[in-house]
Amino acid sequence: MIIAIDGPSGAGKSTIAKILAEKLKIEYLDTGAMYRAVTKYVLDNQIDIYDKDKLKKALNNVHLDFKDSCIYLNGENVEKAIRSKLINENVSEVSSILEVREFLVKNQRDISSSKSTILDGRDIGTVVFPNADYKFYLYASIEVRAKRRFDQNLSNETLKQIKESIRKRDEYDSNREISPLKKADDAIEIDTSNLTIEETVDKIISYIR
Ligand code: C5P
Repeated sequence: MIIAIDGPSGAGKSTIAKILAEKLKIEYLDTGAMYRAVTKYVLDNQIDIYDKDKLKKALNNVHLDFKDSCIYLNGENVEKAIRSKLINENVSEVSSILEVREFLVKNQRDISSSKSTILDGRDIGTVVFPNADYKFYLYASIEVRAKRRFDQNLSNETLKQIKESIRKRDEYDSNREISPLKKADDAIEIDTSNLTIEETVDKIISYIR
């Protein structure tokens, strides 16, 4: 079984997906963390993302693993490092590059091919698994989303900075040429602005069982 959860930053996707994975006893794949980890690699190694040959070679050296809800980049736990302001500012641009997307989409399909998985991201229901068993599109007002990210206290940014950074990322992610953030036609839309985590989880489960 494949469950796709898409939507903008701070809509509650990863929190909800983690709980659902536990309840349904299936795997969870945080695809945003994968784009963030590649962004970290690109920045650390000063890779020119517009030099296709160099980028392709560099991607051959990127190995991503998940262990105990943390992402590992070439053996290093980068779960915390990939939530920084620097990564927030650069991840959308890196994610708009075709080679990066092809590399990660293949990775995501490989990881999920042999087991039931819930994936969250921007293009899961539209591109990665267009035939997913269930598709959900979560969204919320920008105020609510910024406040949620602020309360998570992951990046040392002020509420105002977070709001601006989310707004910019949404705009970039929704308008890029390749696999833009978009609701799949057959996805179930859920506005989480006024829902608690439990209410959102229950709502999704009501469609699955
Ligand atoms: O989900 P999260 O906010 O961690 O994602 C970070 C960024 O990674 C997004 O803003 C987007 O640019 C990119 N992303 C993507 N496709 C996905 C998941 C994330 O382009 N499936």
